[in-house]
Amino acid sequence: MSAAYPFGFLDEYAKKEVRRTTLKAVAIPGYQVPYSSREMPMGRGFGTGGLQLTLALIGEGETLKVIDQGSDDSVNAVSLRSFIEMTCAGINTTTKTEEADLIQSRHRIPEKDLREDQLLVLQVPYPDPLVVVEPSEDKRKTLHGEADYSRLLVKLYEDIVKFDEITISHRYPTRINNHYVIDSSPIPRWDVPKLHQSKALVLFGAGREKKIYAVPPYTKAEPLAFEDVPFRVENFTDNNGQRRSCQRCNCTSSFLDEFIDSTTGKKVYQCSDTDWCDTQQSLNRSTQAATDSENVSKIGEIAHG
Ligand SMILES: [Zn+2]
Repeated sequence: MSAAYPFGFLDEYAKKEVRRTTLKAVAIPGYQVPYSSREMPMGRGFGTGGLQLTLALIGEGETLKVIDQGSDDSVNAVSLRSFIEMTCAGINTTTKTEEADLIQSRHRIPEKDLREDQLLVLQVPYPDPLVVVEPSEDKRKTLHGEADYSRLLVKLYEDIVKFDEITISHRYPTRINNHYVIDSSPIPRWDVPKLHQSKALVLFGAGREKKIYAVPPYTKAEPLAFEDVPFRVENFTDNNGQRRSCQRCNCTSSFLDEFIDSTTGKKVYQCSDTDWCDTQQSLNRSTQAATDSENVSKIGEIAHG
């Protein structure tokens, strides 16, 4: 395949356009910059926007991590990773968040804090948060330009009237740098505060809708809310007020996925970020090993004393 296609599958002009669009997106935080999204050898909606960003930005010798819902092993992540590996000779891939230069993700921001030298690319199905209140793109552009989000706020208010709280579970509208409100992509509310003053550059790519936008490093990102009804993230406490823990690693500070145990029929919880979960497990093991060896040496001291 490498003989027939240039590095990164896209031709140089396409990559250059994506990079120029990215620069504009960084210069105007939260603004949806149009670009001529290319046909990719996979369906729109499978992350073609994120993929084009990754292909245009990754370089030889750099390390890539691809996740879908926090997992490196799901179908979407595996397919995208193998396509990028196939078309970008000389790049490395990893499942470890801290080893990655570029992370492409669908539906999650890694649990571990990202660094300034890392880049996060999020796949976006619907880039415009105003689409729920205004069908015309022309009118939406004017509303964005004037930072007029009153209709969006009315929508949130209606939620509160009907359900006593804002019911948006993902794609939470978030105001960037005091102006543009973005669709934060289908990440859970849990991840939205991670956009605020993020050390890493966060790029959003919508292939079907042909838009790229960005939350640059150290930029204000505020989820829309009201003074008396503040924004809140998912609640993982049980009926007794105890924070639920991951059944694999016992972590009580991560975003949890809910499963039904097929043998017991009970609900069980597990970290959604698999790399985080594995890291916590190995930390647990090394703490246990340290305690064990301490005990052994104590027994040794007692025996010798
Ligand atoms: Zn876990």
